[in-house]
Amino acid sequence: MNQADIRSLTFEELQALITSRGLPKFRAAQIYSWLHEKGVGSFSEMQNLPKSLREALEQEYKLYNCSIDTKLCSESDGTVKYLYELQPGEYAECVVMRYKYGLSVCISTQLGCKMGCSFCASAIGGFRRQLRSSEMLSEIYTAQADLGERISHIVLMGTGEPLDNYENVLRFLRLVTDERGLNISMRHISLSTCGIVPRIYDLAKEHLGLTLSVSLHAPNDEIRSGLMPVNRTWGIDELLRACRFYTKETSRRISFEYTMIDGVNDSDACAEELAARLHGMLCHVNLIPVNTVREKQYQKSRADRLRRFSEILEKRGLTVTVRRTLGEDINASCGQLRAAKMQT
Ligand code: SAH
Repeated sequence: MNQADIRSLTFEELQALITSRGLPKFRAAQIYSWLHEKGVGSFSEMQNLPKSLREALEQEYKLYNCSIDTKLCSESDGTVKYLYELQPGEYAECVVMRYKYGLSVCISTQLGCKMGCSFCASAIGGFRRQLRSSEMLSEIYTAQADLGERISHIVLMGTGEPLDNYENVLRFLRLVTDERGLNISMRHISLSTCGIVPRIYDLAKEHLGLTLSVSLHAPNDEIRSGLMPVNRTWGIDELLRACRFYTKETSRRISFEYTMIDGVNDSDACAEELAARLHGMLCHVNLIPVNTVREKQYQKSRADRLRRFSEILEKRGLTVTVRRTLGEDINASCGQLRAAKMQT
């Protein structure tokens, strides 16, 4: 039986539920604090609730927790990768990266992915199901409890396409930024999409103040459609139109992700074409040397190519960064650990 998912409720929804049971309002505040501020994984830990109430909650509600199946720690940069088990046989990945400004967690938003980008390990094994808001929260609470440190930044860049799980992701964002819970600022959250155009418009209208990352990876439809099937539904013109709407609506700069793949999208001509397309946009380009995935044939662009590509973009007035590769020694890029587990 699917028990009600109490951790996915907003404070107001929890309060309505508690008062409908004839209980005082302050019980809702206590439960919410246990769930989201202290991040506990069981009702029995909610020490200031009467035993009878803890037992009743246990009967009626389920805490969809992540439990740690595998934990890998990078020796070179302190990156920690978790493979979580959700329900038996269901696995999700989560990575914690250590930066000067704090700990940033990269979470999964779906089990598997429908998008099928050709360089990404996440789609291997197909799509299984959407993650609940409570499960995305649990990815963070579990890592925090394990590390004994507070997480300050979140990137929705793990397995899955966040805008293909729109309702649950939006609810997650509301819960994780709630000052009665983990209280993470929207300014410290990035959401990465492969370009589900209608949802970019929806997100823009929410005015959330988070950073939108768009996985572009190519300067034209020909190359992009070859790498990313989603481009056959919404081509680059349509995508960039949505991005311009987003920046106009939110005044937030978009971060374009561009994975550099040897001989595929890293020529001078590609750089010129990309610069022309992004001309005048409130944006920033993040170049990522492609992570070699065991199941895929792509190779990283050479260092001199990367440098030249970045120089061309800068000369054309774009702001460019080259992503530092973290956790390479522990297979920290999208879906690799999960894919390996699913094959065993
Ligand atoms: N579905 C979302 C978020 C998940 S992927 C999206 O597409 O944006 C997070 C980022 O990692 C995306 O930019 C994705 O294109 C990139 N990525 C996936 N596999 C990669 C690989 N092998 N090397 C480098 N980047 C990769």
